[in-house]
Amino acid sequence: MPRLPNTAPEWQRDGYQNIWMPYTQMQTTPPPIPVTKTDGVRITLADGRELIDGTASWWTACHGYNHPHIVAAMQKQVAEMPHVMFGGLAHEPAFRLATRLAALTPGDLNRVFFAEGGSVAVEVAMKMALQYFINKGEPGRTKFVSFLGGYHGDTFAAMSVCDPNDGMHTLFKDAMPRNYAMPLPETAAAMAEFQDFLRENRGHVAAVMIEPLVQGAGGMKFHGADLLQGIRAACDASGVLLIFDEIFTGFGRTGALFAAGAADVLPDIMCVGKALTGGTTPLSAAIAREHVFEAFLSDDPQAALMHGPTFMANPLACAAANAALDLFEEEPWAESVARIEAQMRRELEPCRALPGVIDVRVMGAIAAIQLDDLSDKEILKARFMEAGVWLRPFADIVYLTPPFIIGEDDLRRLTSAIVAVLSGRGY
Ligand SMILES: *Cc1c(COP(=O)(O)O)cnc(C)c1O
Repeated sequence: MPRLPNTAPEWQRDGYQNIWMPYTQMQTTPPPIPVTKTDGVRITLADGRELIDGTASWWTACHGYNHPHIVAAMQKQVAEMPHVMFGGLAHEPAFRLATRLAALTPGDLNRVFFAEGGSVAVEVAMKMALQYFINKGEPGRTKFVSFLGGYHGDTFAAMSVCDPNDGMHTLFKDAMPRNYAMPLPETAAAMAEFQDFLRENRGHVAAVMIEPLVQGAGGMKFHGADLLQGIRAACDASGVLLIFDEIFTGFGRTGALFAAGAADVLPDIMCVGKALTGGTTPLSAAIAREHVFEAFLSDDPQAALMHGPTFMANPLACAAANAALDLFEEEPWAESVARIEAQMRRELEPCRALPGVIDVRVMGAIAAIQLDDLSDKEILKARFMEAGVWLRPFADIVYLTPPFIIGEDDLRRLTSAIVAVLSGRGY
C-alpha cells in the first residue's frame, strides 16, 4: 500500500493497517486525506488547511455542515432518547416525520417506511412491489425494468437494477437476480417500443425503477419530464408499478423539492435518503401511495410487509430529519438553488471551449462537465486540493453539487478552480 505522508496523524498511521476504504484499490490509491472538522461549506484538514466542499459529502449536506438548528435538535434528542426499537413502539420524531413527509411529497404518497441507508430503501421499495402483486394473486410478477445509466445502490437487489454494463456492479452480474435494463426511451419510437415491451411482459414485470430527471452516480445525465410522463403512461397501460428513486434528486437538488413534483408525475413508490437528515446521520424511507399500502391490509398475517431493520426510524436520525425539514420550511432554499444554478451556468460556460470537454450541463444545484477521458482523475483530484477545493471527479465527469447555503464567493472559488484545473490539462 502507498506510504502515508510524514504529516499523517498517529490515528491514521495505526488505522491505515485496519481500515478498508470504499470503492478503493488500496494497493495503489493514495491514502485518504485526514480531516478533523466541518463547518458550513468548509472541511478542515488535520494539517489546518481548509477546503471548500463542492460535493456536499455525497450529496447529503444540503444545508451545509453543522447547521446549528439540526445540531441543537440532535443534542436534545440524544439526551432524551437516542434510540428505541420500532417494533411495537411509537415515538414522536418518527411519527411526526412521517406526517411531514406525506405532506411534502406529491399526491397520496402517504405511507412512510423508514430504513437506514438509501440502498435499503430501494430494497424495501422492490419488496413492496413484489409483495403487492403476491397479495393481489399475481406472484409471477417478479421482474423489474430499469435503465442504462441508472444507479440504485450497492446491495444485491439494488445492484440488479443498476446499469449492468457501466455500473459499479458488472462483476457480480452472474450472482444477481436477472432484471431488464433498457435504454431511456428518449424518442417517440423508443417510447412506443418501451410501451410494447411492458405490455408483452406484464405477466412477469412488477415495477419500473428510475431516478427521475437526473441519473446521478451514472454520470449526472439529465432527461425531461416528458420522458417520465411517457413511462408513467406505459406503466398505467400495463398495470406495472412505477418506483422513483429520489435518493439523489430529492430535497431540492434539481431546483424542485422533488423531481416527481417538477415533472408532474406521481410514482407508486418513492425512495428518499441522502439529504433527508441534512447530511448528519443515516436515514432513508420508501414512501408508498395509498393503493400500494392497501394491498397489504388483510386478515392474513402473511400479507404484512415483511421487513424491519434493527435501527428502523432511529429517533436521533428522525429528529435530525425533522430539523432539516424545518429549514426547508424556513429558509429560502429555492432561491438559493436558483442563484447557484445561474452562477454555475455562467461561470462554467468557459469550460465548453476547453480541449477534451464534451458537455457542460447544469440543473438546479447540480453541474457536470463531461470529459472525453478521465484517466487523469487522481491528478485532477490533487490539483483541486491544491486549489483549496474538495471535488471528486468520477465516471467521465467533474461535477459540483454544493450545499445550498454556499455564498457567491465560495461558489466562485469552486467554479474557477474547475476552469483553471481543466485549462491546465494536457500534461
Ligand atoms: C446514493 C444512492 C443510492 C444508495 O444510497 P446509500 O445510502 O448509499 O445506500 C441509491 N439510489 C440513488 C439514486 C443514490 O444516489
